[in-house]
Amino acid sequence: MERNSILNLNPGPSSLPLPVLEEAARGLLNFNGTGMGITEISHRSKEFQALTNDLVARIRALLSVPDTHEILFTQGGASLVFSTIALNLLARFRLLHPNLPLSEVSADYVVTGVWSKKAYEEAKRLVQHTGVNVRIAADGRTESEDGKSFQSVPSKDKYQFGPADKTAWIYYCENETVNGVQFASAPEDPAAFPLDAALGPPQHTTIDPPLVADFSSSFLSRPIPQIERHALIYGGAQKNIGPAGLTIIIVRKDLLVDVDAAHTLGGCPPCPLTLSFQTLAESGSLYNTPPMFSMYVSDLVLKDLQAKGGLSVVEENNRQKQQVVYGVLEKMEEAGIIQLNVKPGSRSWMNVTFIFHDPALGARFVKEAEAKGLRGVKGHRSVGGFRLSLYNAITLENARTVAGFLEEFLASTKD
Ligand code: PLP
Repeated sequence: MERNSILNLNPGPSSLPLPVLEEAARGLLNFNGTGMGITEISHRSKEFQALTNDLVARIRALLSVPDTHEILFTQGGASLVFSTIALNLLARFRLLHPNLPLSEVSADYVVTGVWSKKAYEEAKRLVQHTGVNVRIAADGRTESEDGKSFQSVPSKDKYQFGPADKTAWIYYCENETVNGVQFASAPEDPAAFPLDAALGPPQHTTIDPPLVADFSSSFLSRPIPQIERHALIYGGAQKNIGPAGLTIIIVRKDLLVDVDAAHTLGGCPPCPLTLSFQTLAESGSLYNTPPMFSMYVSDLVLKDLQAKGGLSVVEENNRQKQQVVYGVLEKMEEAGIIQLNVKPGSRSWMNVTFIFHDPALGARFVKEAEAKGLRGVKGHRSVGGFRLSLYNAITLENARTVAGFLEEFLASTKD
């Protein structure tokens, strides 16, 4: 099978631009004129240091990351950050409020799909025994025919956060990859922040509960509104950025705390040093060997993205891609053959999810999609159905190809 005969609509790892892969292949043999490949040089060499600095600078520029925040690189995937968050943020809270009983403290999760639910469950597993109430502060699940399912982000009145001075952190997942639920971008007001209505105006950064967000599947697909209001933004690289193995963490400096000091004060579980934000920051993400190849390819992807016009161009492209695809799916919905899983206003630009009412038609859809070279159209094994992932490497032309296939399929059901 030739590379250019298929369209990779998988939810990740996703495709990367061909010129990037070709350059990466050269870098595997000889990185930057060192005579050694990127997987062979020292992570403490000046060449790799330059690469790390370059990657930081590109992320900072693309997302307008303020100087109040560090950009860190680590391994272990986004899933490990579920644990890292709980350990570091509880330590921060303990150091700020050494005398407050942890039984009065909450960690608040906005649950809009599989991934935020997992993050919530992991935090509960790790710190609930300290007395901290790890809780669901807003639940995106709604009653549906087959029980409860995630169909939208919670409406304004559904958020029940704890008092600001007793909430150790607030967590949300910007784009739920499995369910296809995403916080709306605010095209009419680029400064609008999706959680504004629920959180109210910011007070003081060290008093406000730190706001934490998982951007794994929407990182660099569009600008992040009010990035400075987030204490921590993170994501695995394998959707829009590069090969798996790299996790990018954008963290406000007041979250870089001495986890051992917090543990000594009592109440906080010990935190492995490899998971301490402070350790990562103080070592320039070189406490241990970082995922060098993944960082290298990510840097090439970001360079390519900047050369193509940066994030506003990417955003416009992604806006059009999802319009083209949802446009046909809405017609299929009107024709009564499918149902889109997510309500308008919360539909993901990156992961488009739906079901066929008739399983036989769904099976035919997969077969015909495969025959046309469309790969990865099935939904996540935990929820079933169908999912088309439109990450950055899918071009507008590719999205039109997908839409064309959907149109043909719809027409064939009317024959
Ligand atoms: N969060 C989101 C939104 C994801 O989509 C994923 C993986 O797809 C994860 C977390 C877990 O990522 P990892 O496999 O890197 O641990």
